[in-house]
Amino acid sequence: MRDTLGRNINYLRISVTDRCNLRCMYCMPEQGICKKEHGDILTLEEIYETVKACSELGVSKVRITGGEPLIRKGLTELIEKIAKLQGIKELAMTTNGVLLEQYAEELKSAGLDRVNISLDTMNAEKYSYITRGGDLGDVMSGIHAAEKAGLMPIKLNTVLIGGFNDDEIENFVNLTIDRDIDVRFIELMPIGQAGHWAKKHFISNTEILNRVNDLQPIQSNDPSSPAKYYKLPVAKGKVGLINPISHSFCGSCNRIRLTADGKLKPCLHTEEEIDIKEVLKKGEGLKEIIKEAILQKPLQHNLNCQSNKPIERDMYRIGG
Ligand code: SAM
Ligand code: SF4
Repeated sequence: MRDTLGRNINYLRISVTDRCNLRCMYCMPEQGICKKEHGDILTLEEIYETVKACSELGVSKVRITGGEPLIRKGLTELIEKIAKLQGIKELAMTTNGVLLEQYAEELKSAGLDRVNISLDTMNAEKYSYITRGGDLGDVMSGIHAAEKAGLMPIKLNTVLIGGFNDDEIENFVNLTIDRDIDVRFIELMPIGQAGHWAKKHFISNTEILNRVNDLQPIQSNDPSSPAKYYKLPVAKGKVGLINPISHSFCGSCNRIRLTADGKLKPCLHTEEEIDIKEVLKKGEGLKEIIKEAILQKPLQHNLNCQSNKPIERDMYRIGG
């Protein structure tokens, strides 16, 4: 379905939980989250009904995210059902990778096409620091398991954090030389309670091009991708730069989001939310409310690294 600006909205990102087994400093409060009542979180059946309605309105790509999606019970069954929907051509997941060693094969068999895995450092101590306690070995095993299971192409998501991992830019870029892995650097966004911390540590992704002169721009085969792609001359994989702050990509935005507590978000960086829980309970009017959300998509967000107040909903509660 097209929005008021003619953008084709064909991509749904679903946060299946707002809980997580890590506590990344830019995303979650240290003490964790206020636990929601069971009834506040959409059931897997309600999520499925929403995806089905979206697919009938033209959504063909779905991403499962969170919080950490792999801690939601029954996720494999949900994936199996979504993968069977006729209109869904691409089904992907964003995960911190910690539980992938355990689940990669099962997810592939259920119909998941591929995974994006978040990894901000390849140093075990720094990993434990930024995730507040995570074990780098778990993610590394998860990446291997995903490769083995064929959840390809694997994309690594690396949030560029000034003074923390900018000294590892070359190491991350070099990962693309021998392995068919895309490394995507994401600019740190000032969101939720970590907004002020993020503003202090922001550096623009242009730093990557300054550091690695050999990177050559390449044409993306997906015009709606937020990443601009580059490649080292001999590399198997690509390097993507996702620059929501320094170069926003609102003009080609094709997505809407569904939060774990049943809100449709027309845009990541605005406060607008449309509650669909009542409609789901009534069992009617779902498509109309989804259309309404699509028609509410703003022209663009006006977030930048200096001036604007961060939105209040934290990233783990939106689904990054
Ligand atoms: N737990 C999963 C993971 O970490 O991949 C999925 C959810 S997480 C919210 C999704 C993505 O959002 C991750 O790649 C994470 O690094 C990114 N993210 C979270 N907070 C962010 C922020 N403030 N700025 C930029 N990216 C952020
Ligand atoms: Fe959890 Fe992902 Fe947020 Fe890290 S970025 S705290 S892994 S939801």
